[in-house]
Amino acid sequence: MEYSDYFPYPTLRKGQEEFMEMIYKNVKIGRNTVIEAATGFGKTPCVLSSILPVAEEKAKKIVYCCRTHKQMDRVIEELKEIGKEKNVSGVSLRGRKEMCLNPVVTDFTGDTASALYVCKLLKKHNRCKFYKNVKENEDLFFELALKFSKRAVNSLEIKEVCRENALCPYEVTKEVLREADLIACSYLYIFHPGIRDNFLEAVGCRLDDLILVLDEAHNLPELAVDLGSDRISLSSLKAGINEATNYEEEEILAFLENMYEIVLSIADDIKLEDESLLTYQDLISRFTGKKSQFVDISTEKAIEDFSHYMVKRGEEIQKDKLNQGKPPRSFIHSCGVFVSNWINVRDRKDYCYFIERYITRGGVSSLRLNILDLDPRNITNQVFSSAYSIIAMSGTLTPLNAFCDIVGMQNYESKVFASPFKRSNILTLISKGVTTKSPYRNLEMYRKLVQKIMEIIDVVPKNVAVFTVSYSVLEGLLSAGLQQIVKKPLFVENKGSASSENDILVKTFKALAKKDGAVLLGVMGGRNAEGEDYPGDEMNAVVLVGIPYAKPMARVQAQVKYYADVFPGRGKYYGYYLPAHRKLNQAAGRAHRLLDDRACIIFLDYRVGQPFVKNNLSKWMTERLRILEDKEGNLKRALKVFFDM
Ligand code: SF4
Repeated sequence: MEYSDYFPYPTLRKGQEEFMEMIYKNVKIGRNTVIEAATGFGKTPCVLSSILPVAEEKAKKIVYCCRTHKQMDRVIEELKEIGKEKNVSGVSLRGRKEMCLNPVVTDFTGDTASALYVCKLLKKHNRCKFYKNVKENEDLFFELALKFSKRAVNSLEIKEVCRENALCPYEVTKEVLREADLIACSYLYIFHPGIRDNFLEAVGCRLDDLILVLDEAHNLPELAVDLGSDRISLSSLKAGINEATNYEEEEILAFLENMYEIVLSIADDIKLEDESLLTYQDLISRFTGKKSQFVDISTEKAIEDFSHYMVKRGEEIQKDKLNQGKPPRSFIHSCGVFVSNWINVRDRKDYCYFIERYITRGGVSSLRLNILDLDPRNITNQVFSSAYSIIAMSGTLTPLNAFCDIVGMQNYESKVFASPFKRSNILTLISKGVTTKSPYRNLEMYRKLVQKIMEIIDVVPKNVAVFTVSYSVLEGLLSAGLQQIVKKPLFVENKGSASSENDILVKTFKALAKKDGAVLLGVMGGRNAEGEDYPGDEMNAVVLVGIPYAKPMARVQAQVKYYADVFPGRGKYYGYYLPAHRKLNQAAGRAHRLLDDRACIIFLDYRVGQPFVKNNLSKWMTERLRILEDKEGNLKRALKVFFDM
């Protein structure tokens, strides 16, 4: 088969041949593929080898969607390996903010969409010298772009060369995109409706020209829901009010003051505790009930028109702020977009509205209005209905049919591939007698959990991670004395810490693997339990305390009800159980990252042993699973045997 010509390594591991053949055949006929294969299987070189020959034959471009920059770099590294023998090219694409050399964008914009907007303004008003240089030094620009488009290149390599030549790295990368066989980029370039059009225009393709690889695809449902949803907080409304005052926008000021009062009055009227569902009219009727001296908002149509006016005025304010050298952010704009979105999804069963009380970063209680997209397919279908062929893969996609239902994948073949890990390198234990089920969450249970965690830490040679279901359970373990009795250095994840602080914490924890080891205490679904790798001794054992079922709050109930309507009989499973089992699975997979990793996975909740939960865990974890009786010393003995082997 042609794909074996592209595979860059001398030998194939178990399952790789079948993996490549399956993808090759499917892509050839434009069918989709959904695969679960554990980390360490070698998915990246296999998928590249399978699709590159088809892309060439059918003149398609490959877009490889990744979650992190590290994953994108990995794709380019593998492509470079293939490039030693084959004529292939590809580029990794970081966001405009990361690629940009202009401080107005790098210092003053928050996300990709706002960076795109500001960059457009700078270019339009001739205020970016790097862009000007692109236009004035076209020969150099095209020479560099041509050089980069003939091989596999990392975006940071492009950025460095552009810095030396004072050229815009994003413009050079854009030129390379047109010619490259493969682009490794964030999911947002394909799934964010506002970013996708610009991206496709830059690439010079339509969706049906693309072979899409979705790496770590288990994240897709959550990402799609995020993209389809919107929210506005009291502090954003306050910031909008200040902006309207500064710009002497009396109508907008009156409208936003009105809206601020409305949010407070909704919370008062319903005696809001945590969160509560709202109806379309809960917001709109309160507007129409109010008279304003400045603005006519007595009808729904008038409110809708006014929201459009705010969006337009917000865009002007963004430009004005930019001209003043200030961060080009407008809260009037975001408030206008929110009201407009609220109106746009009226009568839609696949959206819900709710109000929530939340704690701000500063530790203050505040309120937020939310529009929640209940159906990931609102976002994914825009892509899936047109892309030529899609390969969705992850180490944790089980059950595959549920994933496909939720994201709306059709015309696909799916398979779970066997683990590449040696059986003797994995030990999975479930302890009876402990749980985080709410009636049992008390000091006595926390003490019992701490005693079991101590049994584990005492025997494990180096690093141990303990991931709990929530910060309150994490606090429960600390209040039951975990910190006092643990003999290794303990690193506790802090919900409110900046990502730079958390990076230092994780780095220090990992570094201690080279000494006597350490303990990391965090939460499942949090930043250290997903997306972060802990190979080798960086994690000899991962302890999962409980199953992270969401509190049955308003949004969860709405999700369950919606799924019950569209997937009869599976509402609670898709909307409540499965998201928790996926988080559990993700966190449990942190310790086995390299083929030689030898580590234990310990579930401290008897419920994980029930088939309903166990069957949603990846097969490679459960193949060698033992359920231990609730007896002191049992965990210690089982682990000692494993680590002494
Ligand atoms: S043109 Fe390039 S350097 Fe200038 S703002 Fe845009 S991305 Fe940044």
